[in-house]
Amino acid sequence: MPRGQASSVSTHERPRVDAAVVSDKDNGRHRRSAYLLLGLLIVFLHGSWSVYRMQFANLPLPLDAEQAGKRGFSEASALKHVKYLTGLGPHPVGSDSLDLAVQYVYAEAEKIKKAAHPDVDVQLELFHTDIGANRLAGGLFKGKTILYSDLKHVILRFVPKYLPEAEENLILVSSHIDTVFTTGGAGDCSSCVGVMLELARGVAQWAHGFKSGVLFLFNTGEEEGLVGAHSFITQHHWRNSVRFAVDLEAMGIGGKSTLFQGTHQWALESFATVAKYPSAQIAIQDIFNSGATNSATDFQIYLEVAGLPGLDFAYTDMTSVYHTKNDKMEHLKPGSLQHNGENMLAFLLHAASSQKFMEDAHEAKQESVEQKKAIFFDILASIWWSIRNA
Ligand SMILES: [Zn+2]
Repeated sequence: MPRGQASSVSTHERPRVDAAVVSDKDNGRHRRSAYLLLGLLIVFLHGSWSVYRMQFANLPLPLDAEQAGKRGFSEASALKHVKYLTGLGPHPVGSDSLDLAVQYVYAEAEKIKKAAHPDVDVQLELFHTDIGANRLAGGLFKGKTILYSDLKHVILRFVPKYLPEAEENLILVSSHIDTVFTTGGAGDCSSCVGVMLELARGVAQWAHGFKSGVLFLFNTGEEEGLVGAHSFITQHHWRNSVRFAVDLEAMGIGGKSTLFQGTHQWALESFATVAKYPSAQIAIQDIFNSGATNSATDFQIYLEVAGLPGLDFAYTDMTSVYHTKNDKMEHLKPGSLQHNGENMLAFLLHAASSQKFMEDAHEAKQESVEQKKAIFFDILASIWWSIRNA
């Protein structure tokens, strides 16, 4: 009995022990699987975050004036301009505050002219436009005729003194001083004007070695239907010497200044090769062209009206503040202006010094708009591109 009992106990209990062992093993396996999955999830999230940071949020360290030196780009110096312009409050076309903003930009441009390299010819002009009408075939203002008159733009042109023919080959860098009536426009586009003034300060020390000239256009009237750019490109006496257009914009505030519209492989290649922190996303152009952002940029004028090749850059962080009272300096991430400024300075120095770049620009003027369209994007700050078939 005891044996039998023993045997009966063993025959009945063993399965329970086995079941318990099996169940423990299962639990252990499930626990290990759960840990593995959790681990993989953490690795995935960490990887995604790192890629996101590298792709969108990785900004350079801002430099002060001393660190940047005479020929470099300083975010601290550019920010002083942004601070002054934003401090004026909203400055739409027709307002007294816009007059003050234009006077400020002109006065700063005068300082740049005075401090320029002695072998650089600097022309500074306050351009009053005549009456004009802008009628575009596409985009946000398609089919509308927008009349304008008496706009004021600040124009600053750099040409090497001992190469007068450079006057006939100008690279245009353009942005707008005016804002919409709701905001002082820290992002849109005081940040662009600040970058352009600081860029011009640097270009003034380099331009004696250029083969082409560089013309900075600080326009007013962009927010009224792109009429600032239109008035320049249809009325100004230097308009026919412009061979290439660079437009700086904001569809939000700060972050990377991203190339989102552009023409021609050689132009994209030039930017991708020399920019210190290249950033480009064609997808933004598609969103932009779909009308979802309800915006347009001066680049459309340079492409559609003037037939120029060019590149269009925009800040696209915090798009929710675009054209609202929250477009404020406090949202401007450190490094944003440094990112834009260093990229642009490197690009301008390259483009204005390259004979080939200007020859390509001349040739491009003859092509149709469809031939000029290109597809491009960057992956982790390196640019790949391809050309869309016409
Ligand atoms: Zn703008």
